[in-house]
Amino acid sequence: MNSAIILAGGRGKRMNSKVSKQYIDINGKPILYYTIKKFMDCDSIDNIVVVVPKDEIEYFEKEIVIKYDLKVDLIVAGGTERQDSVFNGLKAIKNADIVLIHDGARPFLSKELIEKGIELVKIHKSVAPGIMPKDTIKVKDENSFSKETLNRSSLVAVQTPQIFDYNLIFECHKKVKEDKAIVTDDTSVAELYGNKVFLYEGEYTNIKITTPEDLVLARYLAETNL
Ligand code: C5P
Repeated sequence: MNSAIILAGGRGKRMNSKVSKQYIDINGKPILYYTIKKFMDCDSIDNIVVVVPKDEIEYFEKEIVIKYDLKVDLIVAGGTERQDSVFNGLKAIKNADIVLIHDGARPFLSKELIEKGIELVKIHKSVAPGIMPKDTIKVKDENSFSKETLNRSSLVAVQTPQIFDYNLIFECHKKVKEDKAIVTDDTSVAELYGNKVFLYEGEYTNIKITTPEDLVLARYLAETNL
């Protein structure tokens, strides 16, 4: 069974918006609608779990799931940090072989990206899409002087969905909790405990809507992408 965890447990402070980021309107529908719909329409996804802040569960159910007639199997309360929200999602899933962990704020992934990841995870157990950064990436020192220029051809900006053998990532997340480690994504969780993560070609259109200027591109993508 292939389960998707869609993360919408954050508030998106960098957006400076009154409503939580996941509910911002893009051409008449909330961001989260587009994300859930993409997984709903994908034949290889059997089960969809959405993680939202505890005090937004009721709103999410009424204003998103029911209003837009979405197929969500389980709504789970998020945690303080992203990694806590993921762990809550993982704990709530029963009988999954493969789990896809996806940022709710990335609505424009393609079905092909999902399908490709599911094929690859059967071989590699931990996989994620990534793209080569367009900018030159530097490391700076504490006084804001450039210390080092990284070799761009070996750099990858990692996206989601990050896809795993369910038991592997669940055990790793349990250890992260016990060890009180701090991580920003789930490939880091797998790597912390010695697992190799296979990186496949991501999509430049699979943006994470984070700051207000991302909304301009999001409106365009919503028109052309679905
Ligand atoms: O903060 P960041 O942009 O890395 O968040 C990525 C995703 O993780 C977002 O979709 C956000 O809603 C989710 N998240 C969460 N629980 C938190 C913080 C973030 O589910 N406590």
